[in-house]
Order: sequence, then C-alpha cells, then structure tokens
Amino acid sequence: MHSRKRILVTGGAGFLGSHLCGRLVAQGHDVICVDNFFTSSKDNIADLLDQNNFELMRHDVTFPLYVEVDEIYNLACPASPIHYQHDPVQTTKTSVHGAINMLGLAKRTGAKIFQASTSEVYGDPQVHPQPEGYWGHVNPIGQRSCYDEGKRCAETLFFDYHRQHQVRIKVARIFNTYGPNMHPNDGRVVSNFIMQALRNEPITLFGDGSQTRSFCYVDDLIEGIVMLMDTGDEVIGPINLGNPCEFTIKELAEKVIELTQSSSSLVLHRLPSDDPLQRQPNIGEAKSKLNWEPKIQLEEGLCKAIQYFEKML
Ligand code: NAD
Ligand code: UDP
Repeated sequence: MHSRKRILVTGGAGFLGSHLCGRLVAQGHDVICVDNFFTSSKDNIADLLDQNNFELMRHDVTFPLYVEVDEIYNLACPASPIHYQHDPVQTTKTSVHGAINMLGLAKRTGAKIFQASTSEVYGDPQVHPQPEGYWGHVNPIGQRSCYDEGKRCAETLFFDYHRQHQVRIKVARIFNTYGPNMHPNDGRVVSNFIMQALRNEPITLFGDGSQTRSFCYVDDLIEGIVMLMDTGDEVIGPINLGNPCEFTIKELAEKVIELTQSSSSLVLHRLPSDDPLQRQPNIGEAKSKLNWEPKIQLEEGLCKAIQYFEKML
C-alpha cells in the first residue's frame, strides 16, 4: 500500500505524462497535472477529469508556479522534432526556464523532483551503445540544438540545485518510446509509419533507413520512471531508460507493414540534418540500481499501438 502523496506532473496531458498521471491516480495519489496543451489536448486525460484525486491546471512552465507538493515529475517539453523545431526559442525556454521554475518549487517545498531528460543529450553518438558516462556528440547550433542543448542545460541545473541546494533529484535519460496516446500527427517515426500503413499511404523513410533506434513500449518506461522516483536519495541518475533492442528504421517500416497487412510502399526522403545514425541504451545502471528492464518487445508493443491508432481513424 502506497502512502498518499501530492504529486505534480508537468506535461501531464502529453503522451508519457497522460500514462504517468493515470498510473499515479490509480495508486490513489493526489495528482496535479500542469500543461499548456502545446502538443496535446484534454483527450489524453479525459478519463481522469472526473476523478476527485486528479486536478488539471492550464499553465506554461516557463512561468513560476506556486503549489504545495511532495513530488514533481517534470515532463513538459515538446518531444517530436517537428514540434520542438516549430518554435525553437520556446523549446529552449521550456527546458531551461521550466527546469529553473520547477527546481525552485522543489527547493521551497522540499519535494523530490524527476527530470525527463533524453537520449538526445548524446547527440549523434560515437560510442555505441550509449552508457551514462558518455558525454555525447552534440551540435550546439543545429536544428536539433534547441531540444538537445535545452535538455543538457536542464541536466546541469538539476545537478547544480542538488549540489548547491541539496534538492533531491532523479534524472532519467529516456530513449525512443511509443504507444497509445502519441499524437497521430506529431511526426515521430512510430506514429507516422503506423498511420501511413493503416491508410495504405507511402511510408516516408528518411535517408536510406539504415539509421537505428531502440524502441521502448510506454508501459515499460512508466514503470522505470516510477521505480526511479521511489529509490532512496542516494540514487540521482542520470539513468538511461529504454529498450536495448535496436532496429534500423527500414526494419521498423517493414515490421509495421507486415503487422498492419498494409499495401504501402517505402518512399525515400532526405535525411534531416544532425539525425543521429545510431542509438541504443546501455541499461546496466537501470538494471543494477532499479532492478528494471523492459518486458514488452517490439512486435507485441507495435500490435498494441496499432490497435490504438486504428480506433482513431
Ligand atoms: P508530448 O509532446 O506528447 O508531451 C509533452 C507535453 O508537454 C505536452 O502535453 C505539451 O503540451 C506539454 N508542454 C510543452 N511545453 C510546455 C510548457 N511550456 N508548459 C507546460 N506544458 C508544456 O511528448 P512526450 O513524448 O510525452 O514527452 C514527455 C517528456 O519526455 C518530454 O520532456 C520529452 O523531452 C521526454 N522524452 C520523451 C521521449 C519519447 O520517446 N517519448 C524520449 C526522450 C525524452
Ligand atoms: N523517420 C523516418 N520517417 C518518418 C519519421 C522519422 O524515417 O516519417 C526517422 C528519423 O529520420 C529518425 C528516426 O526515424 O532517424 C526516428 O525519428 P523520430 O522523430 O521518431 O525520433 P528521434 O529522431 O528524435 O529519435
């Protein structure tokens, strides 16, 4: 039995945030979901709105927030390249000012605070698979920099608030995650390919599709996030969370076509600049410190995601 906590989830209406809110509400915690609906809508959390331990606040984390809470999960930030490149200055502000505001809140209230960092802090990695000790290979002035450098700076702020003000931090570096509640048009590869396949439209392969990613199903990831939050104060991260099974983007496209029994063909598009060529988490830390590893493999997870997107059509 969990003791009842007051928990703030920023970005709580988004893909990951909505799953996290659902889980925390089901556990009986008092959940405050903060979101400015930049990349989401109330749809993802519609089923939580009538629960009396769930509260929704429209708020932009780049502005200060005054609430009294025991834990903060800081997820607010657009995550899809199309969305975060749409207003790159706002993306950096969301990561950096958002981190300062939420860390300030954690400092005042004494709350534990989780940061949704990303595998993008490794950039286009030259070490493979990526362990947490790798400092990364990031272009500071490219199209992806608003996101990558914003998240890197947020990590810096987390560790400085921890060293300087003893704030209790938990930093996870999340690798590509997919599943229900992803926005069908947000441009990320799994949602794009499934929507294209279900409509029998051409599958847009960027580059020659030989770049790799490692895809984690959302339920596994949420489990890892909550397990990290529940560790003792000595565990601060950063900790990689993701599924180490690595696939080329072409393999993903072929798998989606097979599972949807689609007649879609593959069409090649230009590879966006700075698109990482390979990505796979080393999850040794998560295994040893959290006793966590993903259980749902790609085919099973894709089937669940396909069912969700089928209903949307
Ligand atoms: P998402 O776009 O679905 O959700 C982000 C949420 O944050 C949205 O609801 C959006 O409206 C909200 N938001 C954006 N700017 C805001 C602001 N200034 N103030 C308040 N709310 C704001 O993305 P997601 O996939 O759920 O990602 C959640 C977090 O996890 C992000 O921080 C992202 O960087 C991180 N992450 C996700 C992945 C992944 O594969 N899904 C991988 C690495 C890191
Ligand atoms: N990608 C693709 N076709 C698409 C969307 C994405 O080939 O329609 C590729 C993209 O170039 C990248 C990979 O899929 O190499 C993952 O892209 P996504 O935007 O999902 O995540 P990220 O690049 O941030 O890992």
